Amino acid sequence: MKESDSSPPPSLAGLTERLLAFRDARDWRQFHTVKNLMLSLALEAAEVMELAQWKTDEQVDAALADPVLRHRLEEECADVLLYLLLLAERTGIDLARAAEAKIAVNEARYPIDKSRGNARKYNEL
Ligand SMILES: [Mg+2]
Repeated sequence: MKESDSSPPPSLAGLTERLLAFRDARDWRQFHTVKNLMLSLALEAAEVMELAQWKTDEQVDAALADPVLRHRLEEECADVLLYLLLLAERTGIDLARAAEAKIAVNEARYPIDKSRGNARKYNEL
């Protein structure tokens, strides 16, 4: 992470390009089926959850002050993003557009006057 601290962050397209070059140099596209990418994404998300397993909210917050744990969280979050980028590339999903559209859906589902300060799902508002 230090190498990019002072430089502008890479774009999703730039990350995807670098990731595909990494994959293709190793002839791994054959293993990156849609199903395998879906499973890998979920497994990496589980590795994020593992960092909080058996801890209270307070213990998780306190643990983030530990540089070692924080680095592990950074790495697992990166793994999630990388598999998500691979899945999006393989399926032709424009992640930025899809995310933008989903935020709009959520804005409509969760009007501020009904959802502010409560955690109810949109169909229970
Ligand atoms: Mg991982």
